[in-house]
Amino acid sequence: MIYSYSRLKRYADCPASFQYKYLYEMSELPTEPLVLGKTVHTAIQLYLTGTKLQKAVDQAILQEAELPVDRDEVLRLVEHPMVRGIQGGQIEQRFLIPLDPEGVIQLQGYIDWYEQLPSGAVKLIDWKSNRQKYAPTENHQLGLYSWYLSQVTGSTEIDAELVFLRYPYADSRQAYTYTSVKMEEARRWALALATEIEDKVAELNLLGGGEDGHLFPATPGKHCQTCSHAGLCIKSVQIKPVKIDDEVDAQRVAAEVIRLESAASEMKEHLKAWAKEHGAIAVGDSSFDFVPSVSWNIDAEKLYELCSELHDRGLDVFQYLTLTAANLKKMGVTDAQLQLYGKPKTTKTFRLVKAKEAC
Ligand code: SF4
Repeated sequence: MIYSYSRLKRYADCPASFQYKYLYEMSELPTEPLVLGKTVHTAIQLYLTGTKLQKAVDQAILQEAELPVDRDEVLRLVEHPMVRGIQGGQIEQRFLIPLDPEGVIQLQGYIDWYEQLPSGAVKLIDWKSNRQKYAPTENHQLGLYSWYLSQVTGSTEIDAELVFLRYPYADSRQAYTYTSVKMEEARRWALALATEIEDKVAELNLLGGGEDGHLFPATPGKHCQTCSHAGLCIKSVQIKPVKIDDEVDAQRVAAEVIRLESAASEMKEHLKAWAKEHGAIAVGDSSFDFVPSVSWNIDAEKLYELCSELHDRGLDVFQYLTLTAANLKKMGVTDAQLQLYGKPKTTKTFRLVKAKEAC
């Protein structure tokens, strides 16, 4: 088997998910973030190799968008100043390199952009359409890409960057200089996991292809949110009364909730597809059905007119209009400015948050 960072990461997160996808080759539903990411990468590649911006976006959507994507959003991400600033270098390079001296385990990857300067220094960029930023050292992706580049360029230091395209120029870059030690760390991580998988696959073959989950155990966690096999996976779940006595129990139940929610949303998608063809699905005195919800798009001028008319009728429109935090942020209104007009009201909801979000 040929390994890649994403394959290894999937195994590290959940061996069962790896088994479903790469050993049993079960198909997966496209997800919105994945489709958007692929579309943006293709559009950038086309743009950087000479296609006009608008055409690059349209062509990428045609080629990659298995789900509807917002063209304006793709365009906004592709015309990021970091992308527009690229001149020269190698674009979207595929590589294949052995991870071990014997050349048994192969690693492949796609490097979005890199360049070796006349001084010998090497720069590497990976474009990200994620909403949340993270540092290159939070995983081994850029460490592995840097290790490959060090092998082919002879450079012992690689300047690598993640560029988060949703953020303004000054805020979009997460850079890290990989030294030989760090690159070797990434290579060892990949080799250890790939070797473990090879051993398990050999054992699985000896068992005739079937196993009870001891080789590739289901490991619920945050990653269940994007798993296409949650519906199948929960067949092995034994739902017991929830009793939480300590932190370990609490973490186990939390991971299980994510897996069950993911399975439920997958089941809902199947129900939706069935209802589309056959109509509402009755459940006792209720039913699952498509319920219309109507919203209005009113341009700013007309909205102003409407508000004036309501005001003339004696209504206080401001009692009904709400400024959302997201819209205030878009308008650049700061908390300090808001303090001059009102008091903050904090409510708490119980939900899954990223570690950084919770701070
Ligand atoms: S639902 Fe979660 S535990 Fe099950 S296979 Fe997918 S990622 Fe693994």
